[in-house]
Amino acid sequence: MEGKSSTEVFSREKAEATVKALRQSFRAGKTKTYEWRASQLEGIVRLIKEKESDITKALRSDLAKPEMESYLHEISFAKSACLFALKNLKKWMKPEKVPAAITTFPSSAQIVSEPLGVVLVISAWNYPFLLSIDPVIGAIVAGNAVVLKPSDIAPATSELFAKILPEYVDSSCIKVVEGGVPETTALLEQKWDKIFYTGNGKVGRIVMAAAAKHLTPVSLELGGKSPVLVDSDVNLKVAVKRIAVGKWGCNNGQACIAPDYIITPKSFAPQLIEALKVTLERFYGKNPLESADLSRIVNLNHFKRLTDLLDEENVSDKIVCGGQTDEKQLKIAPTLLLDVPHDSVIMKDEIFGPLLPIVTVDKLEDSFEIINSMSKPLAAYVFTKNKKLEQEFISNVSAGGILVNDVALHLANLYLPFGGVGESGIGAYHGKFSFDAFSHKKAVLSRGFAGEAGARYPPYTPEKQWIL
Ligand code: NAD
Repeated sequence: MEGKSSTEVFSREKAEATVKALRQSFRAGKTKTYEWRASQLEGIVRLIKEKESDITKALRSDLAKPEMESYLHEISFAKSACLFALKNLKKWMKPEKVPAAITTFPSSAQIVSEPLGVVLVISAWNYPFLLSIDPVIGAIVAGNAVVLKPSDIAPATSELFAKILPEYVDSSCIKVVEGGVPETTALLEQKWDKIFYTGNGKVGRIVMAAAAKHLTPVSLELGGKSPVLVDSDVNLKVAVKRIAVGKWGCNNGQACIAPDYIITPKSFAPQLIEALKVTLERFYGKNPLESADLSRIVNLNHFKRLTDLLDEENVSDKIVCGGQTDEKQLKIAPTLLLDVPHDSVIMKDEIFGPLLPIVTVDKLEDSFEIINSMSKPLAAYVFTKNKKLEQEFISNVSAGGILVNDVALHLANLYLPFGGVGESGIGAYHGKFSFDAFSHKKAVLSRGFAGEAGARYPPYTPEKQWIL
């Protein structure tokens, strides 16, 4: 464990020494073997099994995250990622044979996946366990040495990682550095072979600028305003349950793929709002601020940011459900707003909290223009039975991922890439995509000594042209 817990600040020299030590381990070939990769994954599986209650406790301390959510969305996803990788690792590591080209006859060709080297993972606070361990799993399966820098905004989980990860994995190749901006800045000044960052786009730009100095590739897992289009033909009972659990049942809206706003036909909005209200009361009771099933807002800064969104002129009077806040507990109730002004801050920035504006339109087709007038979101959702609308949504809306008739579940399918597009991110991971994100695809062409085409060699005389 390095960084925050040391008495002195994690300096540039310390960052340099950390990378140097990891590079030595990497160059010694330690991380490249199947056995090393598999044993690290097995170590993480053991960590998850043996430290589950410590992880749950840390998540409760950082976010008051309900135990069931911690298990479903962080612990079990991390375990599945490890087991899936263990099952497929040998296959992924195998060179991929590709057809030989006639122009190089005779020859054979293959793509060899090689580890990038020493990589840096910087993670965010909202799913502080999963968002740290998941990219680390990717780095390991691809055979890299790795530094994990967990988020300082989730200090209990960060501290837990620093304490327990070295007990379960090879700490000569996998290290945790705790800290905030100074420590991350010291790390970013180093030359890495890849930087994998999860967080907001403002810091994403800082990460990318630092990486550019060394021509280091990046994966940026960012956020955005993920829309939910709700048609009037849906099974309303099921739709509102799925929307509600994808918004408030995922960290109380503090999730990168949480529904950011709903678009629905004007005539259908009253029905939709009523159904959401009933569902919310069923989920969180009459006083949601007292519900143990709702995470709190992570800190006072974020609490103020969210209450400022509600306090904006011409927004506060648009609340149709919720709106209660408790600064002492850092709790905000699930809140619905109807037709806030398009130029209000709540409709411009990613909300990342329990507020959900509902935008009404005369025709559902108008929604494509609203969605496409904003930055490309990380996820986009459509609820409809209309196959034509579904197809139009898929082809007209650009987003990191699209889910039809549900929310957030697409990230549970390890055969799908998870990542953004445009301002919602660069690169993707999960399953084989994690292996690829941390690998270089080396092109290898092998020839013998036969097949000498004379035209290839000077002098380029006219007699040789018949060969071409
Ligand atoms: P955060 O505050 O935890 O910051 C992310 C990381 O950046 C932390 O490790 C932090 O220490 C570091 N950091 C902060 N300021 C820095 C600076 N000036 N220089 C260098 N490093 C710095 O998390 P956040 O940014 O508040 O996270 C929320 C955002 O992340 C939202 O936009 C959300 O949509 C996005 N997000 C995306 C995903 C995804 O998988 N695509 C997942 C979770 C969150």
